[in-house]
Amino acid sequence: MTKILDGKACAANMRSQLQAKIDAQLADGKRRPGLAVILVGEDPASAIYVRNKHRACEKAGIKSMQYLLPSDATESQLIDLIDTLNEDPEIDGMIIQLPLPAGMDVVKIQERVRSDKDVDGFCAEQAGLLFRNRPCLESCTPKGIISLLDANGIEIEGQHAVVVGRSDIVGKPLSILLLNRGATVSICHSKTPDLAAITRQADILCVATGKRHLISAEHIKPGAVVVDVGIHRDDSGKLAGDVNYEDVVDLCSWITPVPGGVGPMTIASLLENTWLAYCDHLGINEA
Ligand code: NDP
Repeated sequence: MTKILDGKACAANMRSQLQAKIDAQLADGKRRPGLAVILVGEDPASAIYVRNKHRACEKAGIKSMQYLLPSDATESQLIDLIDTLNEDPEIDGMIIQLPLPAGMDVVKIQERVRSDKDVDGFCAEQAGLLFRNRPCLESCTPKGIISLLDANGIEIEGQHAVVVGRSDIVGKPLSILLLNRGATVSICHSKTPDLAAITRQADILCVATGKRHLISAEHIKPGAVVVDVGIHRDDSGKLAGDVNYEDVVDLCSWITPVPGGVGPMTIASLLENTWLAYCDHLGINEA
């Protein structure tokens, strides 16, 4: 019978473990970890993501500070804010909610975040450390996926993992994390001919394409573990993933639901990265 990879429960568990560690530091007279979240513009979906991150921080005992810039803010205003937060000793981690308004140079802005505060793990230094399989602030969604597989005792080493999607924030770093853990990794993308021929070889299939219901039963090897990163909301407000859940669920050994799978794990990883940055800043030997 198919088992559900319950990201909501796993994230709640990670959060309470983190809270206990933070409480111990507070009892020791230390300050709280601090996370700065920058939101530019009024995109409603981004506002929801920022609110969810804020609530998760509060539950774990992390001080979350939100910085809202209007949609007509200039790139140099945003860079000035990042520079100020880079120097703020109360702030351990900083994230800039995507998407940014059209015309802003996203990579330039992400690179402006000091690497020791880059809890999204997007900057070249953190990505390079990941590439080298060295300790680093790992990109949150890939890190959350690995934590979810580990928490459910799913073997990675020796498995054939297929990642569909090659974005800098999900597909690529996830492929490297899986490779670092000893999986044989295939990476597919929009130019891959005969996608199903590759995905049907997957022991672990991870899908991050932003294409609703791209993956159906014909793409699945019976018994595969299926991780669905995609999030889509239809006109009635119902959420769906890149995987057609109803079509594939009986074929899989494990599957993430949407919602309640990868999304909560992404936030839990952000909290963990903020904790790691805090430990680094305060010289706490906890990592
Ligand atoms: P991007 O748009 O940056 O990348 C999508 C990738 O999918 C690209 O590499 C693209 O290929 C590939 N792709 C698109 N169409 C196909 C296709 N028909 N067949 C094979 N590959 C295809 O998206 P992200 O990686 O940022 O996000 C992916 C999804 O995950 C989105 O739905 C996003 O909302 C969601 N997401 C969810 C998170 C969570 O916490 N649950 C966090 C982050 C993202 P190519 O490179 O050739 O264009």
